[in-house]
Amino acid sequence: MSSIKELYNKGKTVLSCEIYPPKKEDEFANIYSKLDRLAEIKPDFVSVTYGAGGSNAGKAVEIADYAKNKAELEVVSHITSVGFSREKLTQGLDRFKQIGIDNILVLRGDRPKAMTDEQFNSRDFLHASDMAHFIREKGMDFTLLGACYPHKHPEALNEDEDVKNTKVKVQCGCDVLISQLFFENEYFYRLKDKLYALGVKTPISAGIMPVTSAKQLGTTVTLSGTTVPEELSSIISKHGDNPEEMRKYGIEYAIKQALDLKNKGVDGLHFYIMNKPELAKELMDAVK
Ligand code: FAD
Repeated sequence: MSSIKELYNKGKTVLSCEIYPPKKEDEFANIYSKLDRLAEIKPDFVSVTYGAGGSNAGKAVEIADYAKNKAELEVVSHITSVGFSREKLTQGLDRFKQIGIDNILVLRGDRPKAMTDEQFNSRDFLHASDMAHFIREKGMDFTLLGACYPHKHPEALNEDEDVKNTKVKVQCGCDVLISQLFFENEYFYRLKDKLYALGVKTPISAGIMPVTSAKQLGTTVTLSGTTVPEELSSIISKHGDNPEEMRKYGIEYAIKQALDLKNKGVDGLHFYIMNKPELAKELMDAVK
């Protein structure tokens, strides 16, 4: 079993990045060459997202299979409780085992537009922690990861409630946490301290997303509930119209964040690279 848990015991910052199945069919062929390129860049692992509701379920498995068995990358596969009944989860995990995936990021997922509230609320697993509990109870041999939120999850009443729920996730079997993206490291340090105070000493990888175009803020960032500090918003207002400059300064900002985290002993850095291997290379070279 190739558990990524062991990577966190080696006294170095674990470097990883996220890949998602492309939405358009014609971009799909490209993803394999991107994985080949990532294999040369050698992150400690890649995580492959899953579209809640199952829109790209098959593709996520195909990509994980290629990443693990052709590109020979270490892989974490995401699964969401939205779209996974108990039965489907068991089948899905069996399939992951068959292709050699030993690491699963358990998530609740968000309600897809096409799903009614009633359908969303009748899922078998209400929370990621319920999935972790089910997998542990069944004795399935996976390293489990869970999500955590430096700015609290948008639906949580307050930070303390969210931190307590994150602790439940760990108690139910998550071995590693990966954070939502954030642009101000203080929020991450605060989350880590609060978890530590509750006795949660699980490794946490910090989620870093370089903002390389102004329009990113309108989509991913807004959805994540993350705040944008003055320094970053002034980079965007100054360079947002110039793609080259925006890329340069956006990456510079992310590297500054990553280096500060590394110098303060972060367990891991998880880069949201928007399927761009060269971004992974620039970020990883800068922090290695
Ligand atoms: P949960 O842990 O269930 O938390 C959701 C809310 O419920 C929070 O407010 C929390 O405080 C509360 N809560 C949690 N546990 C309990 C409990 N036991 N009792 C009571 N309340 C509880 N989405 C996708 O669709 N596909 C992906 O591949 C994907 N990858 C992601 C990767 C990372 C690293 C992150 C940070 C997010 C990802 N997401 C993905 C988004 C994620 O699905 C959403 O943020 C979703 O809204 C919450 O998922 P969760 O697993 O954190 O949910």
